[in-house]
Amino acid sequence: MDQIFKSLLRDRCLIGGEWRGEPALPVSNPATGAFLARVPNFGRLETRDAIEAAHKAFPAWSGLLAKERAAILKRWHNLQLAHAESLARLMTVEMGKPLAESRGEVSYGAAFVEFFAEEAKRIYGETVPSPRKGGRVIVMKQPIGVVGAITPWNFPFAMITRKVAPALAVGCTVVVKPAPDTPLTALALGALAEQAGFPPGVFNIVTGDAEAIGAELTANPLVRAITFTGSTRVGKLLMRQSADTVKKVSLELGGNAPFIVFDDADLDRAVEGAVISKFRNMGQTCVCANRILVQDGVYDAFAAKLVARVAALRVGDGLQAGVEQGPLINEAGLKKVEDHVADALAKGARLLVGGKRHALGRTFFEPTVLADVTPEMRVATEETFGPVAPLFRFKTEDEAIAFANGTPYGLAAYFYSRDVARVWRVTERLEFGIVGANEGIISTEVAPFGGVKESGLGREGSRHGVEEFLELKYMYLGGL
Ligand code: ADP
Repeated sequence: MDQIFKSLLRDRCLIGGEWRGEPALPVSNPATGAFLARVPNFGRLETRDAIEAAHKAFPAWSGLLAKERAAILKRWHNLQLAHAESLARLMTVEMGKPLAESRGEVSYGAAFVEFFAEEAKRIYGETVPSPRKGGRVIVMKQPIGVVGAITPWNFPFAMITRKVAPALAVGCTVVVKPAPDTPLTALALGALAEQAGFPPGVFNIVTGDAEAIGAELTANPLVRAITFTGSTRVGKLLMRQSADTVKKVSLELGGNAPFIVFDDADLDRAVEGAVISKFRNMGQTCVCANRILVQDGVYDAFAAKLVARVAALRVGDGLQAGVEQGPLINEAGLKKVEDHVADALAKGARLLVGGKRHALGRTFFEPTVLADVTPEMRVATEETFGPVAPLFRFKTEDEAIAFANGTPYGLAAYFYSRDVARVWRVTERLEFGIVGANEGIISTEVAPFGGVKESGLGREGSRHGVEEFLELKYMYLGGL
């Protein structure tokens, strides 16, 4: 056991300011199989307790001055930075990403806490010119109430802070259900929240039976908003379940990101962008390039440069220095990647590099590039969520845009071109919530992150990120 994060290790859930439950569900390191800890297997009853604790804490928390809430959030942020190395190592052993990426995630995740601590003071209402004499129209913003947050394993830290920080900043209280693969990072955040001085019940964490916890969070009328990041399938289920109590729902779901390289692109920049966008987190992000569309004139040159970079990626245990690719999260994730590659090869794709399970065993997979990929292959329509770069060939801009938009998803899209008119035109025509133009890394706390179509509802980060947790109230003041 890595000693460095021992002080942050918790094997109980945080409910109403108490650490509760018996260690039950095992958590292990995907790179080595080493056992890390067990966490409680909670269900509906404990989730109800957490919701009630959050409900009880709401009046006092929302009644604080914005400045007072901001001060606690800032302390939480500072503690995250003070424990950055422990948090990073914990993330790497829990989910496998290389340590450099885990460190990056701590900075990225903590930045949301800092940003929303500052934003807490800027929840402005408005006054509207009255339509009648002797009256005034005033619009105020108020916290929605208890928020249920369900988070995935691919960013065990940042997906929690991105949801929870804006909710807490505006005065909501939260119940977090982390992914079963990565509960320890979530519980570590709970330990730091406790140290930061959040009052009991403001920040609760429940681990265990996803279906039961999700059922309670969505059915319980005390929960007023559900915020979820994960698969489209579960997102739709939660939206359906939330209908009976008409909750506000924000969803960050799957993507099928196109990455378009036009003939006039800076090819070296495009290759760097493709590597970072495709292979970051071993391809396990919802904004990872899923379809790489390359224009005819540069197809072969781009493929050759990409293959050279991908073949050199170092695969291994994320704790080892210099490793750029860790294992996939679990066997199911690995199987999907393997199936996608097999399907593409069976339908005529050409393997340029990689293509199979890595000699390291477990859930390691070789970073892969496929050429001559066509729309009939599964990699074209499904999110691979793994280290596989499929190269499609196109001739015209119209063809590329039609193919890029021809998906029910609409989260992130990327393209490379040096023609300013094209940059503008293509950006406007892409049906996606996020566009990276000549850029492969688009996530930042200052910009609104989110998708259109079946990729989700709502935005996270930026000044817009608080809106998911606010209600508008309009007062007509008469008799003046
Ligand atoms: P992935 O395929 O990436 O694991 P999921 O959508 O299955 O994506 O998981 C994202 C989060 O949703 C996890 O915290 C998971 O436990 C949770 N989850 C899965 N199924 C349900 C469900 N039926 N109700 C509520 N949460 C669920």
